[in-house]
Amino acid sequence: MDLSLIEAVDSEMAGLIRRESARQAQTLRLIPSENYASAAVLAASGSCLANKYSEGYPGKRYYQGQAHIDAIERLAINRAKALFGAEHANVQPYSGSPANLAVYFALLEPGDRILSMSLPHGGHLTHGWKVTISGKYFEAHQYGVRETDQRLDMDQVAAMARELKPKLIICGASAYPRVIDFAAFAAIAEEVGAYLLADIAHIAGLVAGGAHPSPVPHADVVTTTTHKTLRGPRGGLILCRKGLRKKIDRAVFPGLQGGPHDQTTGALAVALAEAQQPAFADYARAVVDNARVLGERLAGHGFDLVSGGTDNHLLLIDLTSKGVSGKVAAVALEQAGIVCNANSVPFDKRTPFDPSGIRIGTPALTTRGMGPGEMKRLADWMQAIVAAPDDEALLGRVAGEVAELCEQFPAPGVG
Ligand SMILES: *Cc1c(COP(=O)(O)O)cnc(C)c1O
Repeated sequence: MDLSLIEAVDSEMAGLIRRESARQAQTLRLIPSENYASAAVLAASGSCLANKYSEGYPGKRYYQGQAHIDAIERLAINRAKALFGAEHANVQPYSGSPANLAVYFALLEPGDRILSMSLPHGGHLTHGWKVTISGKYFEAHQYGVRETDQRLDMDQVAAMARELKPKLIICGASAYPRVIDFAAFAAIAEEVGAYLLADIAHIAGLVAGGAHPSPVPHADVVTTTTHKTLRGPRGGLILCRKGLRKKIDRAVFPGLQGGPHDQTTGALAVALAEAQQPAFADYARAVVDNARVLGERLAGHGFDLVSGGTDNHLLLIDLTSKGVSGKVAAVALEQAGIVCNANSVPFDKRTPFDPSGIRIGTPALTTRGMGPGEMKRLADWMQAIVAAPDDEALLGRVAGEVAELCEQFPAPGVG
């Protein structure tokens, strides 16, 4: 990254960005919602497209000077439709959260009922959790995972849907390591006359690369972030059936947002072109393979994996049997250059600020080209650190080995 332009006007900020860039290069990024966008994606999102205002949609703008912006947005829309096989795409949501809010604004009235996955069981805040606008303006009810196997219980979802008759059912999660059965959700939604929203923020790249079944044939609306496994710029995307196109577009603009972030739209088009390449399907498969290998090695070290393993890019680990809290483990791991997040596990007896688990994922390490051999080394480091989180000498030694590994696998766009 060339920071000389920033250096010339603001050396303090240049220094901070340089240090963050080095941190991203020299540590192992295991937060499953994070990735490394390509240098091309970063370049487009830092381009002059940020200077333009273009409220409205291609061919229907409120400002002049849209010849190229219209072409850019149409390209992004067409690539999103082609990649996901969707009838309509709206590429303007600023991020995943506003994408979901726009869908609620399009399909619901205040006070309407939503049925979604509980946050402590792996769902997302924006799916009706009480502290959010989605929980305050709508009547949200939540299904969870079974206590016995920590998997979604479609019988529970069906029973709750029949009893509550929600207007909207939401599937999709931020901390669920298993395949989501979109067809089963769609059958339930159809039976009770609800809309089905599939929020694939975490798994969009796996869906695009064919490593997770697609919700597009089943759901009325699909929302996603563009910066997680999809490896694009920071942003959001809504896919829907033709019949909902007008409602969705009006809800995004003028319903919720003002001018679209054209630099993000441009960068999304670049990321979607990358995701259309055969190499991206290889990437998606490698993400899942790496997560499986990492999980198997951790299980061999006695780690308790929620649901017993993973089908996707992430692992949720219950550290109760290791006698360490999620926060203590996450802090120690970071000292050793392994960056993850503490996370609640289903039926957690601890607090969300110091929960029982950690959540890790392989999207970013896989982008760096790491494979099964590196996953095994990582599991061995994690085992040693969780067994002795206060051993400063150990943490320092692992940090050195992590830095060496990172040098062998450079990350795009940083360093
Ligand atoms: C990350 C995430 C979001 C929110 O995305 P932001 O871009 O952070 O607003 C929404 N839904 C799910 C399931 C997510 O994992």
